[in-house]
Amino acid sequence: MTTVVTESTGARARQTYFWRVRNGRTKAPAGSAEQSWHIQPGHPGGAYSDVGHELHPTVHHTPTLLSRTPPSGSRAQPEEFRGGCLTCNWEGPVRRGRGSGDGDNEVVEDAHDHAFPGWRTLPSVVRVADRWEVPGDRRRWARLSALYPTGWVDDGAPILVRRRFRSEVHAPPHRRRLRYELRIEAPIGRAKRATDQGALF
Ligand SMILES: [Zn+2]
Repeated sequence: MTTVVTESTGARARQTYFWRVRNGRTKAPAGSAEQSWHIQPGHPGGAYSDVGHELHPTVHHTPTLLSRTPPSGSRAQPEEFRGGCLTCNWEGPVRRGRGSGDGDNEVVEDAHDHAFPGWRTLPSVVRVADRWEVPGDRRRWARLSALYPTGWVDDGAPILVRRRFRSEVHAPPHRRRLRYELRIEAPIGRAKRATDQGALF
């Protein structure tokens, strides 16, 4: 008889189930844990994330990244990804890819559509050096964040930076920057000017 395992949905429940499999608490082999949806290591709520693992859900929607290795994965698209939220049970559509910007970037964006609808219209940081300098400089950060909708900065809205190359992977939050750094294409019409200035490289 085949045991049908019904996984609970939602990033937190998925992560709990993943660890139950991983620790041999279910009938599934512990080695098959990677085939269960779990939060990608380094992303909010996942292993190796240093933004905290407090048990109580945050009060605002908090994007994260779920992944799994499906038994049916191919060499070209070995992983499956979907956006998740640490606050509610929302899960985004499943996308396949190799990771490192292929498949995972799209679902991180899905998760931001869920938590911060309209985030694509936020101002973006152009110079690579400013990725670090703007958030660390009180005056410059105040100037940029003043353009965000009310409450978004405190709720962990992303910082947008111009990507250096196609599929540059989005960076998850960490202790010193409690928001995703999303690497985006230059808005249409501005790409050429930015490249001319050498700003992207
Ligand atoms: Zn949510």
